[in-house]
Amino acid sequence: MTEPRLFVEDDLSAGALVTLNRARAHYLTGVLRRKASDAAVLFNGRDGAWRATLVDAGRAKATLRLEAHISPQTVSPDLWLLFAPIKHGRIDFLVEKATELGVRRLVPVLTRYTQVERVNFERLRARAIEAAEQCERLDVPEVAAPTEIGRALDRWPAERILIVCDEAGGEPIADALAALRAAGQGGEPLALLVGPEGGLAEMDRRALAAGPPHRRISLGPRILRAETAALAALACIQAALGDWHTPPRAPST
Ligand code: SAH
Repeated sequence: MTEPRLFVEDDLSAGALVTLNRARAHYLTGVLRRKASDAAVLFNGRDGAWRATLVDAGRAKATLRLEAHISPQTVSPDLWLLFAPIKHGRIDFLVEKATELGVRRLVPVLTRYTQVERVNFERLRARAIEAAEQCERLDVPEVAAPTEIGRALDRWPAERILIVCDEAGGEPIADALAALRAAGQGGEPLALLVGPEGGLAEMDRRALAAGPPHRRISLGPRILRAETAALAALACIQAALGDWHTPPRAPST
């Protein structure tokens, strides 16, 4: 039986007791049917992974005792994904997959043709946490507040390389990544920008032209949906410059 992995906010140290909130307790004891003395793995994004034992298992409450530190904290590559918010199910999918692909920060950007202006932060954060638990990341990507594209570009950190997926064309992504690699720009810190379903508008292009230096890349002759474009580009980045050179961690359970 695989030990469930749970993200918690608490500090983690030997012997500490961690009480789960109602929803998490229900997940562990109700959905996964774990009982007192069963084991779980806890992480908080700071203190590595800890093996814990369920000492008190109720329907609405669960308490775990931390037993042993089983792996040191690791961080995901310094890679941001800037994306225009899309509809419910598809944004959930995007957040889940971007988390699996190792994005460190998710930044919703509002562009001229962005169709969805409201972003449910709690919902995206919950999706990111679930995905981190599932893929055995020890950190959860930060979900930033939605920002208008011009503002995001105005405040751009000078050292962060920006790659823009442009449906109107650009350098083939493999060439752009090979050039960055050859220039010794190992890919960090890096950011990827993907436009909305409606595409990048003239206004967004002006904001980009006035903004930081960036590389416009193409993902080929087909017009991809925003989430497909984001995930395809992230996979290319991770393979060429990111942490796909690192082998999978040995199973911790
Ligand atoms: N409605 C637009 C397409 C938008 S696709 C049109 O018909 O032209 C949504 C976003 O995905 C784009 O803004 C871009 O960032 C990215 N994208 C989609 N296909 C792409 C491609 N072939 N190359 C680069 N980026 C692409």
